[in-house]
Amino acid sequence: MTLSITDLIAEADRCVACGLCLPHCPTYRKTGSEADSPRGRIQLMRAVAQDILPNNQRFKQHIDLCLSCRSCESACPNNVNYGALVDSTRAILLPKKSIWYRLAKPLIRSRLFSNGLMWLVWLIQQCKCDALLKCFNPAAKLLPAINHPVSWQSLYPTTVAFRQGSVSLFLGCASQALDNQTLKASIYLLNTLGFDVYVPAQQTCCGSIARQMGDELEANQLLAMNQHSFNATMPILTVASGCGAGLADYMPSHQVQDISAFLAACDWSRVSISPLKQRIFVQDPCSLRNGQKSHAAVYSLLKKIPQAEVLALAGNSQCCGGAGSYMLTQASMANDLLNDKLMVIEAASAAILATSNIGCSLHIAKGLREQNMPVVILHPVQIMAKQLGFVNQ
Ligand code: SF4
Ligand code: SF4
Repeated sequence: MTLSITDLIAEADRCVACGLCLPHCPTYRKTGSEADSPRGRIQLMRAVAQDILPNNQRFKQHIDLCLSCRSCESACPNNVNYGALVDSTRAILLPKKSIWYRLAKPLIRSRLFSNGLMWLVWLIQQCKCDALLKCFNPAAKLLPAINHPVSWQSLYPTTVAFRQGSVSLFLGCASQALDNQTLKASIYLLNTLGFDVYVPAQQTCCGSIARQMGDELEANQLLAMNQHSFNATMPILTVASGCGAGLADYMPSHQVQDISAFLAACDWSRVSISPLKQRIFVQDPCSLRNGQKSHAAVYSLLKKIPQAEVLALAGNSQCCGGAGSYMLTQASMANDLLNDKLMVIEAASAAILATSNIGCSLHIAKGLREQNMPVVILHPVQIMAKQLGFVNQ
């Protein structure tokens, strides 16, 4: 939740400046500057909140460079809530929105607008004219080959006799637009395991991008729409951990769960999983590792596949640099961190990389394309669904 100025100062006061978080902070590791470390940022936030330091461009730069990866929070022995501190700082002390965000806001807000744009992108890709798109907008480099856009039904009932229950599926704007195969695979898996899947039509963006941009009003309005759309008594499953962490933090009234954590705990005894004699490397998104804290479930889930060797990618505790809109707004640091990730992928000779966050997937895939590295990036659910007979159409 967003803190008041008084609570922000009180939370910042809980930092004892021990510095144990410093080696875990990607920006500090890159710049070596205290002002780009969690401890330094906390001191800056407190000093600006108390009017000891000016709220100027330099302050903004140090806060903007923070990835909100929350590695520092996981490392902090005093449980300082860095996530709430940085969210609140952006909302209260840095409310001026970037041009990028002001342009993207109608897309996030309006399903009609974003669907229309996706149809347009899909048509451009079908006509093999996407090079044209990349000339006009560098962000188009992030676009994967997208599937035919989907009109979702409100209910996908299970057809198997051993019914296990009902769940709701959170679509997420980016997953819906750019990765609908993961959503289709999720419905297939859940139905095959005996779950009815509800897809509320009025659901909207989780609000995480708005919150990251300091637009608390917009984030709260989106949250209220989701609260109203979803049944609070049914688990809400998310396929993008960026959405999942945001919803879990700010919508505690509902049972938000990452889909892999939910699936790992399900009864799989009545389905047969085809073997896959492959090494699967797993990338832990920060939002799953430090936000939802359920990254271990991805490994448990994938290990259900006979003969598959499931391995953690080296350097998993460091953010890939995707971090929501960060890959667009802080491209230099985002690419620096991406290069580290590409180096470990190459060193591992990885052929399959599993990730549970669309932002990480887009960012890493862009790097792999640029380096001509033949690595397939899939959501864990897509890997599982394929071993149960799912065919992407
Ligand atoms: S959230 Fe990540 S980038 Fe920001 S201070 Fe913490 S560790 Fe550093
Ligand atoms: S580990 Fe926690 S208490 Fe120590 S400097 Fe970092 S935020 Fe402050």
